Amino acid sequence: MHDKDYQVIIIGAGFSGLCMAIKLQQAGLSDFLILEGASEVGGTWRENTYPGAECDIPSALYSYSFEHNSAWEFKWSEQQQIFDYQKNIAKKYDLYEKVAFDQQVESAVFDEDQSVWSITSVKGDTFRCQHVVSAVGQLHLPAQPDFAGEEHYTGAKFHSAKWDHSVELAGKRVAVIGNAASALQFIPQIAPLVEHLTVFQRSANWVIAKQDRSYGSIEQWVSEKVPLITRLYRLSLWLRGECLVLPAMRRNRIAQRLLKWMAQKSLRRVIQDPELIKKLTPDYPIGAKRILFSDDYYGALVRDNVHLDTSGVKQFTEQGILRNDGVEESFDVVIYGTGFKTNPFLASIDVQGLGGRPLREHWQGGAHAYLGITTYDFPNFYMMYGPNTNLGHNSIIIMIEAQARYIVKCIERLAISGQKTLQVKEAVESQYNEEIQARLKKMSFADVKESWYMDGGRITNNWAGSTLEYRRRLRKVNWNNYLIT
Ligand code: NAP
Repeated sequence: MHDKDYQVIIIGAGFSGLCMAIKLQQAGLSDFLILEGASEVGGTWRENTYPGAECDIPSALYSYSFEHNSAWEFKWSEQQQIFDYQKNIAKKYDLYEKVAFDQQVESAVFDEDQSVWSITSVKGDTFRCQHVVSAVGQLHLPAQPDFAGEEHYTGAKFHSAKWDHSVELAGKRVAVIGNAASALQFIPQIAPLVEHLTVFQRSANWVIAKQDRSYGSIEQWVSEKVPLITRLYRLSLWLRGECLVLPAMRRNRIAQRLLKWMAQKSLRRVIQDPELIKKLTPDYPIGAKRILFSDDYYGALVRDNVHLDTSGVKQFTEQGILRNDGVEESFDVVIYGTGFKTNPFLASIDVQGLGGRPLREHWQGGAHAYLGITTYDFPNFYMMYGPNTNLGHNSIIIMIEAQARYIVKCIERLAISGQKTLQVKEAVESQYNEEIQARLKKMSFADVKESWYMDGGRITNNWAGSTLEYRRRLRKVNWNNYLIT
């Protein structure tokens, strides 16, 4: 049942949803509701509670530009502090009262006659609005591969994004499947506790030393009291991503060599065994998959109680795992560090646009959207952190803020003119996507056959340029690109 029609409904109360809400409020558009599936704000920073969870983008940059936090304790903050930052922001902007918690959205259907979106939650509640903003993120559905024989395995198992804190790891035999951004953070935390740890690595990753450090009280004081220094610091962190990492993703040889050298240095500083160095050296160009940052991952791998397996999981057995090299290992606990189902996009919500057309069908062959925000035939439907807006080189918060400002302009335009719908023209979107896909083909992301950036052969997740370019393109809305009725 619904008791009113909202002007805007935001789905999700993570970094994107909160930012969207703040920008709406600041524009004087307060007739909105946030639907959140969980009972707290925070998105990925609420969900991922695995030991050692922290951000791999420095906090001074991985925070809203309009909400500086001088209290960051580390250069790269831990999950709890980022989560606290989000909760404090939600409180400061009185957003808790704008959130309907425990409302996991199941479907969003556009009613053409009334130009209204009807959103239904798993609970069976219905909410109606003129504009929908999807702010569900790209990394919220854990991917857990099916291995043969799993049903016979009698030990404990869980995914890193659903960490089971009730399972005691001390003194246990533990397997970790996967070795990317999440696993590399929790492996060093659990290795000293467990009796034995086997890390199942399918592909090696490029890992650069994080050189994390805590901020001293003087730095925190300067950060609080001297805004110019704070802004310059944020600028320097941003420039590093734009000027060093992005060129590597554009296959610039010098930048790639430099980053590769940094990664090899990190590896060789800790690992001397040539066989292990070989196993841990990727066979693809740096930047094709996410570059990882860690100060303690390699140190964990050389512990006596840790084994790096590269033969792979053949199948589960009652007691543990049979490896492809024929060795059966017994495990008390298996932890999946196997990432997220990033495609198809918005898989958990049945979105239907004009003529009842499902978004899933519209996106056959891979998700696409104009500026990553809108797609034709889905009027008044906006996405934050949508198709082709993920970054491998800089803070996603920069993209999110630009998107929120752009979406506000679209909503304001209709509010002022009294018109009902806005949708991007098909030809505009097609031309835009052709441009982005052509550019992505020339980037390092195209140098692997498979990654979470892709759907089939199409790179659906990543942005093709700098954050500066993205902000520039979103600065003004070109109304000629839209059908407004
Ligand atoms: P991921 O990057 O998708 O890595 C999944 C890992 O599991 C990879 O090592 C993958 O191997 C392995 N894997 C997947 N399926 C497998 C199978 N069937 N058999 C064996 N191995 C398998 O996932 P993630 O580490 O959770 O990270 C996902 C993204 O989340 C990151 O790229 C990053 O954007 C974000 N993240 C960010 C932070 C942060 O600090 N801000 C922290 C964690 C995650 P292959 O490489 O061979 O596919």
